Amino acid sequence: MIELLLADRCTGCDICVQVCPTNVFDAVAGSRPVIARQSDCQTCFLCELYCPADALYVAPDCDGPVRVDEAAIVASGWLGQYRRDSGWGQTRGDPDHANESWRMDEVFERARAAATE
Ligand code: SF4
Ligand code: SF4
Repeated sequence: MIELLLADRCTGCDICVQVCPTNVFDAVAGSRPVIARQSDCQTCFLCELYCPADALYVAPDCDGPVRVDEAAIVASGWLGQYRRDSGWGQTRGDPDHANESWRMDEVFERARAAATE
């Protein structure tokens, strides 16, 4: 379940707001997004994959929230680990492997619409 959005790393790009299939985050005008509906998190790690700043921490327990120590998580090196281990983003900047994740936009739009019905 999503546990942390680290304010000092977050750039406010709102990518996590766009990609979360269950609409967990709320965008905040002129600021960073907030975790608005933690209990709706399905522990899919999609937001961790997409976050360009490794500013999110999703704990592997999908049954409920767990208490986490932000400083310990930072020190552990776990931020971005899921992204790194999956190979996500390894070809950033390589024109032979252009990021075509935009093709998922329609899927995300449908999921967001269903989540807000
Ligand atoms: S994707 Fe990462 S950097 Fe962008 S707003 Fe979300 S937490 Fe912040
Ligand atoms: S882990 Fe998945 S469901 Fe949970 S906040 Fe991230 S993108 Fe949303």
